Amino acid sequence: MSGLLLGAHMSISGGVSNALDAAAAAGSNAVQVFTKNNRQWGGPPADQADAARWHEQMPALGVEYAVSHATYLINLASPKDDLWARSIGGQKDELQRAQAYGIRHVVLHPGAHTGSGEEAGLARVAAALNRLHAELPECADTLTLLELTAGQGTSLGYSFGQLAAIIADVETQERVGVCVDTCHALGAGYDFRTAEGYAAMIGEIEATIGLSTVKCWHFNDSKFDVGSRKDRHTHIGEGFVGLDGFSHILNDLRWDGIGMLLETPKDEDGDGNDARNLAALAGLVDDPTRVPPGLRG
Ligand SMILES: [Zn+2]
Ligand SMILES: [Zn+2]
Repeated sequence: MSGLLLGAHMSISGGVSNALDAAAAAGSNAVQVFTKNNRQWGGPPADQADAARWHEQMPALGVEYAVSHATYLINLASPKDDLWARSIGGQKDELQRAQAYGIRHVVLHPGAHTGSGEEAGLARVAAALNRLHAELPECADTLTLLELTAGQGTSLGYSFGQLAAIIADVETQERVGVCVDTCHALGAGYDFRTAEGYAAMIGEIEATIGLSTVKCWHFNDSKFDVGSRKDRHTHIGEGFVGLDGFSHILNDLRWDGIGMLLETPKDEDGDGNDARNLAALAGLVDDPTRVPPGLRG
């Protein structure tokens, strides 16, 4: 059954597979996780018992889509050879761990050129992807999803054209996709809050990376207005994206079957805010049969 895949980033405290329980408890049918401590470069190999539980519980709990997010330490655009090599190793570790769980998508921030210039940085990202693809033939089905950024500092990937430029230099392009974050898109200058603005953004996606390259969305409202180049997430409908911005995406049937994940602030208990944000999104959907069963009002 195809419809909306809606969920949130969930904690892996006590085991990666615990995130599935949290996703199901929230009534969602999609989940994002870190597959290890996200402040570390690498982690121990995937826990076999937990991976087995993941494979069993994902269908049992009705979670249809899962994506992992790579550590923020990775910078494939770095001009420094040691950090660049370490970053390639970091993303390899992420892909291998995701593969052990059967998670097919790993979201990665493209990186920051830190002074070497945009062109050099973009080429560096593509070269890094080519190297890690060559070194990791066994993970050919586990894609790196380059995330659209707000363009803060020297961060690359703040336009679909830049993401297309990276992908153009990748030899096995089927191993790369894109994640569009709504907070980042607004910060980068895409004003999709009006029907015309949304259509223009879609037109740009079609003209650059192509719609089918978009493999997931991050649904975050933004504390800052369009073109701010800032990346500060807030609750759905409480920031500068606003409900209309999310409504255009949610009611566009072309995104059925593409994961939509919240990365909004958690509350003290870790779940009340998710429930509120997921309900806000579900409430914007014109056709209730497209809403995950657990989120139907
Ligand atoms: Zn994001
Ligand atoms: Zn962000």
